Order: sequence, then structure tokens, then C-alpha cells
Amino acid sequence: DVKQLIEEIAVILQAKAVDKEMNLRVMIPTSITVMGDAHRLKQIFINLINNAILYTPSGGTIEVSATEEKNRVRICVSDTGIGISEEEIPRIFERFYRIDKARSRNTGGTGLGLSIVKHLVEAHNGEITVQSTPGKGTMFTIILKK
Ligand code: ATP
Ligand code: MG
Repeated sequence: DVKQLIEEIAVILQAKAVDKEMNLRVMIPTSITVMGDAHRLKQIFINLINNAILYTPSGGTIEVSATEEKNRVRICVSDTGIGISEEEIPRIFERFYRIDKARSRNTGGTGLGLSIVKHLVEAHNGEITVQSTPGKGTMFTIILKK
């Protein structure tokens, strides 16, 4: 159940969001069941929401939504953060890749998170895409088969 799984994660990450004076909202109206490894699916959303918290300045908003389509589920994690430039987008899923600005901001990551996320999404026969505007925010979209 994607709703239950993401709400569980949000409860845990809420403290981090509150520390940064950010608004973390989960908007999933009803239970949505997908076939998958619950532990791995959690890992996907923990990584994406942690990134959203890390790369969004105080006062920002993070929204997680999920909608059911015919044979699939679309889950979006969006933030109002620093964004990713068009040139960097193809590289963020590479292992150990971190955008310079993030590196110098001392956020202390390894650059592995998104490569693991992509790997796990693909292991579920899913798809991950990203849309971003520098200075405005980023939205990751995950499509999972039902
Ligand atoms: P970790 O391995 O600890 O997750 P990381 O967060 O640096 O380290 P990734 O999660 O793989 O690594 O992300 C790669 C890079 O993509 C980040 O360093 C950051 O520059 C950029 N990035 C990821 N998510 C976002 C986001 N929501 N907004 C802006 N930039 C992002
Ligand atoms: Mg990360």
C-alpha cells in the first residue's frame, strides 16, 4: 500500500522538515496497492524525500502525491528547492555524481542515492523521470505497474 508506506516515511522525516521550517505534505487520498518489495520501495521514497529536504532552503514545501491510473501508479515528489540545471539532469543518476554547488554546500552526501533509486525503480519495471527549474524546484515522477 503506497499510501501507508509513504505516510510512514513522512512521519519519520517530518522532524527533519520541521527543523528546517519546511512543510512536508503527503497527498494520497486512498490506498493504492502495487506489486513490489516494500522495503525497497521505502528506500526509494526515503532517498527522494531526503534529497528534497536537503536541497530546499528553509521555508520551502515538499509535496508527495500518488494517483492511480489504469494499470499503473504515478508518484510525484516535488520540492521548491534549488533545482537542477538542464545540463546536470542527465548526470544526477550516475554513481557518485553530485552537483558542484551541493558538494561545496557541505551537505555530506555520497552521490549514490539517486543511482540506487533508479536501480530500484527499474528492478520494479518502473520508470523515473525528473523535471526541474533552477531556483524554483524539482519534481521526480515514478511510474510503477500495478
Ligand atoms: P547521497 O548518496 O547521500 O544521497 P547525494 O544526495 O549528493 O548523496 P544523490 O541523492 O544521488 O546524491 O543526488 C545527486 C545530486 O543530485 C545531489 O548531489 C544534488 O546535487 C542533486 N539533487 C538530487 N536531488 C535534488 C533535488 N531534489 N533538488 C536539487 N538537486 C538535487
Ligand atoms: Mg541524496
